[in-house]
Amino acid sequence: MKIMVVEDTEDSRILLEDVLRTNSYEVDSATNGIEALKKLKQSIPSLIISDILMPEMDGFEFCQQVKHDPQLRAIPFIFYSATYTDNSDKEFAMSLGASLFVIKPKDPIEFIEIIKGVLAENTSHPSIQPDPVKMDDAFKENYARILNKKLFSKIITLERQEEELKLASLVLDNSSEGMMVSDTKNNIIMINPAFTEITGYEFEEIRGKNPRVLSAGYHDLPFYQAMWHELLSAGKWHGEIWGKRKNGETYPKWLTINTICNKNGSIHRYVALFSDISDKKQSEELIWRQANFDSLTELPNRDMFRNILEREIKKSKRDKLSLALLLLDIDLFKEVNDTLGLDVGDALLKETAGRIGDCIREIDTVARMGGDEFSVIITGLCDTSHVDNIAHKIAESLSKPYQLGDEVVYVSASTGITLYPNDAEDMATLMKNADQAMYAAKQKGRNRFNYFTQSLQDAAQYRLRMTNDLRVALESNQLRINFQPIVHCKSGRIYKAEALIRWQHPLRGLICPIQFIPLAEETGLINKIGDWIFKESARWAKKFSSQFDSDFQVSVNLSPIQFRTENNIFVEEWLIFLQKLGLSGKNLVIEITEGLLLNAEPEVIDKLLQFRDAGIEVAIDDFGTGYSSLSYIKKFEIDYLKIDRSFTSNLETDKNDIALSEAIIVMAHKLGLKVIAEGVEYVGQQNRLRDSGCDYAQGYLYSKPIPPEEFEKLLQHNLANTG
Ligand code: C2E
Ligand code: CA
Ligand code: CA
Repeated sequence: MKIMVVEDTEDSRILLEDVLRTNSYEVDSATNGIEALKKLKQSIPSLIISDILMPEMDGFEFCQQVKHDPQLRAIPFIFYSATYTDNSDKEFAMSLGASLFVIKPKDPIEFIEIIKGVLAENTSHPSIQPDPVKMDDAFKENYARILNKKLFSKIITLERQEEELKLASLVLDNSSEGMMVSDTKNNIIMINPAFTEITGYEFEEIRGKNPRVLSAGYHDLPFYQAMWHELLSAGKWHGEIWGKRKNGETYPKWLTINTICNKNGSIHRYVALFSDISDKKQSEELIWRQANFDSLTELPNRDMFRNILEREIKKSKRDKLSLALLLLDIDLFKEVNDTLGLDVGDALLKETAGRIGDCIREIDTVARMGGDEFSVIITGLCDTSHVDNIAHKIAESLSKPYQLGDEVVYVSASTGITLYPNDAEDMATLMKNADQAMYAAKQKGRNRFNYFTQSLQDAAQYRLRMTNDLRVALESNQLRINFQPIVHCKSGRIYKAEALIRWQHPLRGLICPIQFIPLAEETGLINKIGDWIFKESARWAKKFSSQFDSDFQVSVNLSPIQFRTENNIFVEEWLIFLQKLGLSGKNLVIEITEGLLLNAEPEVIDKLLQFRDAGIEVAIDDFGTGYSSLSYIKKFEIDYLKIDRSFTSNLETDKNDIALSEAIIVMAHKLGLKVIAEGVEYVGQQNRLRDSGCDYAQGYLYSKPIPPEEFEKLLQHNLANTG
């Protein structure tokens, strides 16, 4: 069965043809009334479906002519029009002899039902066509009026569409997103200004080309295959893709491609929208770098390091290989920072990072853990002796002088080493091990490396137990004070005593201070212990000075930790304590180390001045082991220098030490300081010191540190003999 379709708009016509054909109708079509009339002369269809507004001959005229032709007038005629203005349209159309007036667009299934209905009607009651309308003046007027009205409404619709188009193109022209339209063969047929801005291509240069020219070529075939698959199946694709500009520069872009289909569903156009995301990518990368890398050395930071270590442990497990974890701490870094400034400190860290990096292989890792701590992962080891070589190489490299601006600096590192799987198999334990081993290296006197061993582990546990015991010691009166006499070199008379602490441990017996003071310093317990020893010393000083000699002095050791900021009020509290006790400041001396002056922050200086104002004298302990910088000592108006035992013990043999201690004594005197020699064990030492002009001596030659009651007796005896 054949149906004639008369329609000037291509899309609508094709759509209608498709609908009809899929419903097994034959279709003959024309684009206007004249063409249709010509075709009707050749073959007669079962039905005519016609638009109204068409060029050359409109639908009304066409219908009228059909209905006037005796051979054609029996064909049922359906008007199918979008420009419906009012009911008079329909009335007029029907008056021409049409069977139906259908408004576009109609749902295809419904439309087919309507067509079927009209056809059935026509076969069952072949239409008794009304007489053709009379073409009188009234008819013509009506005809003209209705057509005009329809034209007018079509014009309005077209204007609206044009406006919409204008708007759309305005949006496109001003969009910051690049846009590109390509045809069915994927050849570019349109771009917008942003496209030119991003890619550098003008329309003339790119027209008709395949968008392939815009690709950086970084993506492989499977990538494009997946993209096309999705584009064709889902009608769109979006994702990140690398593009290439006209000048050859590549850049990341966020691309969205949409397909535009014909009414029959076949692809008509591809519309691609894209934006240049180089900036966004750069800031993303920056954020990632900031989160994972140390900005100074550009090494992985602690977080990143943990990720790498975790991964390397897994790899070693899989490959059944060993791995070494090294933890390095730069010795005396704080001193460099404090004396030469943060800039030099930073430069030192940077250089150190580079030097360590040069000692390891590509596959190994070096990271900055923070501060002056670095760590190294050495992977893929079948023979762990290799670790020794690397550790040596690093130590050697770091020991070379650093030229930092105008300064030449020497440093060393203390390194802890632990091995996977020998020492531990999990990250947390490995890190703890490396830390303990490094700590032990520092304890052994810096510039060395130290392997983690079970005994280190034991030592760490011992430390932990001792710390707990020490807390108890304070409350349960296990601490003792001992005194060691300080003797005037010329007269042999005891003028002073150093208070030295002891710990009477309930199980371990008497414990020496070097075994627990460092622990107390690490845990902060030193503050309470220091408070106890100061007050205890003051009580005894009160007793000795009132019983034997009003100028008698007790010397108390203070740890640098006690001078820290968070520990602000201790001096005030002590001075009040002295007042209540009725003890003059001149009966006390405090012993501090040189390091304290070297890093002296305002708080430290404040506290030292408070002691000074209260008449308490200050001694520098262990002089000669640290910086031995007399300039600091002058600046802080120190009263005594205590020459370290390491000098005194060599006084009889080592010519250098003799010269040095003599020089120290002369200079100290020039600066108005008195000198106390520590660790005097032999008469020979005593004589040499006395001849060099040393003021006081302290050591086993006179007495070991002894309990107060014993000391009292010693003092009594000494005073009686020296008058
Ligand atoms: P230090 O202040 O240098 O104390 C002198 C140390 O040398 C004492 O060790 C003393 O017993 C020892 N000594 C004295 N004469 C001789 C000698 O002729 N030969 C030898 N071989 N040694 C001698 P001690 O009592 O074991 O104290 C060790 C360190 O512990 C002290 O060194 C001091 O730094 C610290 N210390 C002791 N008591 C206290 C305290 O109450 N507070 C603080 N913060 N530290 C303390
Ligand atoms: Ca001391
Ligand atoms: Ca000392």
